[in-house]
Amino acid sequence: MNEMTEKRLEKIRQRRQAKEEKQAQADLEKKKAEEQQKKEDIRYMRQALTQAKKAMALGETPIGCVIVYEGKVIGRGYNRRNTDKSTLSHAEITAIRKASKVLGDWRLEGCRLYVTLEPCQMCAGAIVQARIPQVVIGAMNPKAGCAGSVLNLFQIEQFNHQVEVTYDVCKDECSKMLKDFFQGLRRRLKTEKE
Ligand SMILES: [Zn+2]
Repeated sequence: MNEMTEKRLEKIRQRRQAKEEKQAQADLEKKKAEEQQKKEDIRYMRQALTQAKKAMALGETPIGCVIVYEGKVIGRGYNRRNTDKSTLSHAEITAIRKASKVLGDWRLEGCRLYVTLEPCQMCAGAIVQARIPQVVIGAMNPKAGCAGSVLNLFQIEQFNHQVEVTYDVCKDECSKMLKDFFQGLRRRLKTEKE
């Protein structure tokens, strides 16, 4: 091997090593960002659960929602359908109304919505209408959910807006709260009958 060839090979090796190091650094940063997001998701879902507890205290199905913008909660809501005698009193609709008031805009671009139960068709529709880019869901709702259970309103190509969804955040806590609520309800109904 002559000197020229050796030098060229060394250069190739160095370039490859630099590329690998750069890739490893990028992977590490991506992983760090994902872990940070995961932690944040849990923190805000717990706040949505606090909202759900308010619904529970009223004897309503415990569903709660918060909307986050630039690291700040700008909208909160919980289910008040029976209390208000209004089908519009879902957690998400209340939170969207409040967030719009804070931002002074019906467009909620740059917001991340957290909800303890998969949204219904009305709320999923409102989320798309409000141009919310990201939604985080606790428990799924196989009988009425519109983020993939009955249908998926968040990823319909023909609409002008699609929503990125993160599933199963604090899933166990969210479904346990609902389960406990319905168990309590059944128990009360049974005692009333007796
Ligand atoms: Zn709804």
